Amino acid sequence: MQNKESIYSVNDLQLDNYNLLLNETLFHNANGYIGIRSAFEEGYPDGYESIRGQYINGFYDYSNMQQAEKLYGLAQEKQTMLNIADTQSIIIHLDDEIFSMFHGTVIASKRWVNMDKGVTGRYVRWRSPKGKELELTITRMTSFHQLTLFTITYEMKPLNFSGEIMIESNHDGNALNYVDVNDPRVAAEAFHYLTPISCELKKGASYITSSTSKSQCTVCSSVKNVLLQEHDRQFIIDNNNAICQMTTEGNQGGTIKLIKYAVFCDSIRYEDCRLQAGIELEKALATSLESLYKKQEDYLNEYWKNCDVIIDGDDELNLAIRYNLYQLIQSVGKDEYSNIAPKGLSGEGYEGHFFWDTEMYIEPFFTITNPSITRNLIHYRYSILEMARENAKIMGHSQGALYPWRTIMGKECSGYFPAGSAQYHINGDIAYSIIAYYLATKDIALLQEKGAEIIFETARLWIDTGNFYHGCFYINDVTGPDEYTCIVNNNYYTNLIAQYHLNWAVKIYNLLSNDENFNELIHKIDLKEEEIQTFQVAAKGMYLPYDPELKINPQDDSFLQKSKWDIETIPESNFPLLLHYHPLHLYRHQVCKQPDTIMAHFIIEDAQSNEVMRNSYEYYEKITTHDSSLSDCIFGIMAAKLGMEEKAFQYFCDSAHLDLLDRHKNTKHGIHTSNMGGNYMAIVYGFGGFRLKENGVCFAPMLPHKWRSYQFKVCYEDSRIIIIVEEENCYFKLEHGSAKKIYVYDKPFLLEDTVVVNRKINMKRKFSREI
Ligand code: BGC
Repeated sequence: MQNKESIYSVNDLQLDNYNLLLNETLFHNANGYIGIRSAFEEGYPDGYESIRGQYINGFYDYSNMQQAEKLYGLAQEKQTMLNIADTQSIIIHLDDEIFSMFHGTVIASKRWVNMDKGVTGRYVRWRSPKGKELELTITRMTSFHQLTLFTITYEMKPLNFSGEIMIESNHDGNALNYVDVNDPRVAAEAFHYLTPISCELKKGASYITSSTSKSQCTVCSSVKNVLLQEHDRQFIIDNNNAICQMTTEGNQGGTIKLIKYAVFCDSIRYEDCRLQAGIELEKALATSLESLYKKQEDYLNEYWKNCDVIIDGDDELNLAIRYNLYQLIQSVGKDEYSNIAPKGLSGEGYEGHFFWDTEMYIEPFFTITNPSITRNLIHYRYSILEMARENAKIMGHSQGALYPWRTIMGKECSGYFPAGSAQYHINGDIAYSIIAYYLATKDIALLQEKGAEIIFETARLWIDTGNFYHGCFYINDVTGPDEYTCIVNNNYYTNLIAQYHLNWAVKIYNLLSNDENFNELIHKIDLKEEEIQTFQVAAKGMYLPYDPELKINPQDDSFLQKSKWDIETIPESNFPLLLHYHPLHLYRHQVCKQPDTIMAHFIIEDAQSNEVMRNSYEYYEKITTHDSSLSDCIFGIMAAKLGMEEKAFQYFCDSAHLDLLDRHKNTKHGIHTSNMGGNYMAIVYGFGGFRLKENGVCFAPMLPHKWRSYQFKVCYEDSRIIIIVEEENCYFKLEHGSAKKIYVYDKPFLLEDTVVVNRKINMKRKFSREI
C-alpha cells in the first residue's frame, strides 16, 4: 500500500507573531547538514518577531557561561549552534510599490511541505494598494543529494498588469542568534558570535566568509541568482550584505522565474571553506534544477521504502506520523561531526546541543529502518570519546569516560549540573544504543572498531562512581531522566541501565576475545581481566530499589519519603512547572517531569514482573506532569505493553500532534525531534509490541479500535520485514533478505515468505495470561 499522506499544508492568512513564528519552524527545510527556517523571503515589517535562522549541524562557537559561584569543575563556557548568513531574502518592487503580506490585500496564501518530493512551497495571490495583482509560487529545497545546497525557486506571475519589475535578492552576513531572557530552554544572552571577514563577488556570485569569536571556525556561504528573463543586474555591497538587483519585464499572465542557489561550507568539514563553496556552487549550477528535484525525490523514495508507517482509518494521524518521520531525516546529521539536536535544525531551542535524546528516542527508529544513520551517530560519539575521558577526570574519576550531558563538540555545556552533568545515565544510554545497533545488524566490525571501546570506557565509569557495600553495588548522587528529582541515591533507571551495560561489557569482551585485533584495543585502553570480573560482580550485586508494600520500583532511595503533591490542584497556567517553581521545591515533592522508572521498565522489560510494572505505572502516572515532550510517548508504549489500549491510543494522539498543534507552546523554538522518534516507537514498540532482544525480534501487535489496519517495516540483519496488522490477523512478510526466526506473541516462527498469526485470539490469550 502506498502512503497517500505526503503533503501537510496551512492556509496562512494569520499574520500575527504567534503564527508566523510557528510556521517558520513547521515549514523549515533541512537535510541534516543545513537547516533554514521558513521566514517570508520579503521579511516582516518592524514590530514583528522573526527567528530568521539558518544553521549548520555541529557548527558552533563558545560563549562564557557565568557561574555565580565558581566551584571546581563547573563548565565555564558553552557551545552554541550559530545562525549563519541569511540567504532567504527576495524583495519584489513593482514601480514604487513593494510586495508585502502586511499591506495591500492578500487574496490567498498557503504553505506546504511535500514529504515525497522533499520541498516546501508557498503560494500567494496578492493585490497591491494601487491594484496590481501578483501570483507567487515559491519552492524551497535543502538538497539531500548535495548537502551544502539550498535552493529557492521563485515564480511570479503578474495577473493584471505588464511592466518592469525589480527583484532584489540579498545575501546578508550580519546574522545574530536568537535570545529570550525569560526562557531557560533558549540562550539568555545576546552575543556577537560571527564576524564577516570578507564579502566578495566572483563570476556573478557573492561569497561571504565569517569567522567565529572563539572556536576558530569559519563558514563561507555563496549565492547565485539565476533569473531567466533578466534585463539588467547590479550588485551593491553594503556592510557585508551583497544585494543583487535585477530587472525584468513582467507580462500579464506570463511567469518570471528566479532560481536562487545558496551553498554553505564550514571549516570543521572542509579545509578551505571559501574554496569549497566555489566548488559546491559550480557543482550545483552544473546540474539542472529538474535533476536536483528528481534526486531529492529518489532519496526520499528510498527513505520511505525503509521506514514508512501507514495507518488505515485515520488520515490525520497518518499525516502527523509521516510529518514526524520526515522531520527526523531532515534533522539527523549525516557525518561524524554532527548528531541530532532536540530541535533538529529548525530553531535555537537548547542551542543545538546533543543530549541522550539521540540514543534513547531517535536511534531506535534509525537502527531498525536505516542503520547506516545510527552508525554515523555512533561514529560521532566515538569522535568525542577522548573528551568524555577528559570530562570524567574533571568530575573526579580516576578511570573511564563520562559523556557530557549536553554538547556539540564534546565538552560539557550544562550550566546547571543537578539536572545536567549529574545525569550519568547518558553513559548507559550510549552503550544501550550501541548494543541495540549490534542486535539489529550483527555488525561486529563497528563493535571492533569503535563500539567496544566506548562500551568498556563508559562501563569503567560505573565502577568508579558506585561502590560495594555489604555485597551490593550502589550508585549514589546522580540524576535519573526525570529532571524534577535531582541528585539522588540509587536511581532505579540508572542502576538498571548500568547493570545492563556492565553485563554487556562482559559479553562483548567474550565475543571479541578471539578477534586478532582485540589485543590491540585491550592494550590501548589497558583493560584488565580483573576489571571484567569486577563488571560481572557489580552487575550481579547491583542494588535495584523495590518497595515490597507498594510492589513498585521506587524512583530512587528517598523518592517515597517525599511529600505528595496532587498535580490536579496545580493551575493550568503553572505548567511547565520548571518555569513556575524553584527547583528545590520540585525536588522535595513526588512529582515527575517525565518517565524515569517507567522508561526503565520499557527499555529493559525483563528485569521485573508485569505486576511490578503495572503497579509502578499506576503510581507514577498520577504524579507525572509530562512537562517534557519525551514523556507521553513512553507512557503510551507502556500502556500498550500492559494491555491498556484506550490509554495507549490517547497518549499517542496527544504526542503525535505535539508540534503540528503546538501543544507545548514552544514549537517556535524548533520542532521536538525526540518526541518524533518517540512517536514512531509508540506505534512500532507500543501498538506493534516490537522488541529487539538477544534471541531475535519479537512482536505482539494490538490494533487501536479506531483504525482499520496499520503497517510498518523493520530492517533486521540482512532482511526487511513488513508487518501488517488487521482486525483478525497480523501478517509478517519478508520483503527481502534471508529467512528469519521471529517471535509473535512469544511463539517462534520461521519467516521465509509470509507468516500469518491470528491476532484476536492471541491478544486475548496474552493479556489473560499476563495480567
Ligand atoms: C528533558 C530532557 C531532554 C531535554 C532535551 C528536557 O526537557 O527533561 O530529558 O534531554 O529536554 O530534549
